[in-house]
Amino acid sequence: MAHLYFKYGTMNSGKSIEIIKVAHNYEEQGKRVLLFTPAIDTRIGENIVGSRTGLTRPAIPVKADTDLFELVRSEQSGEGQRISCVLVDEAQFLNKRQVLELTWIVDELDIPVMAFGLKNDFRNELFEGSYNLLVNADKIEEIKTICWHCDRKATMVVRSVNGVPVSEGDQIMIGGNDDYKPVCRSCYRKTFQGGL
Ligand SMILES: [Zn+2]
Repeated sequence: MAHLYFKYGTMNSGKSIEIIKVAHNYEEQGKRVLLFTPAIDTRIGENIVGSRTGLTRPAIPVKADTDLFELVRSEQSGEGQRISCVLVDEAQFLNKRQVLELTWIVDELDIPVMAFGLKNDFRNELFEGSYNLLVNADKIEEIKTICWHCDRKATMVVRSVNGVPVSEGDQIMIGGNDDYKPVCRSCYRKTFQGGL
């Protein structure tokens, strides 16, 4: 029986390299995977999954009106090879309907789906995709990384704009002069209380 997996981690926890590894493992055995990435993430290119280690691979771009279930169903019923797994990068950017479509891929088509993404944003609010994945996933797994400032586990992210940390603003800001650091809860608090 197929499952819906949500593998979440903060920035720079190695989600993209993990997804590329999973795809490689399937394909090494001659199995077919479909890899999706929301078109909203333009850091590298909207149809490429890339990790900071330099590994990249092409992906199918997902727009807000993309019907993931229909797309996978038509691929599965076509003349091509059977699909063994569906992978989603940056799954926090999916909308609620698309997360439900992932559950139908699992339940109706019996294809496992692994969604990778951030859980909380820089304001410590859940992304729409992450909220709905936490509600709907069969298996939830954390991909861990270390705080930028200390040796604790990072569970949050600090956004800096022009080098200044901010805790308010739009959830999604593409192409701005901003950067993100993974931090633990304690260092997140100190960042905005002057302790760091
Ligand atoms: Zn810390």
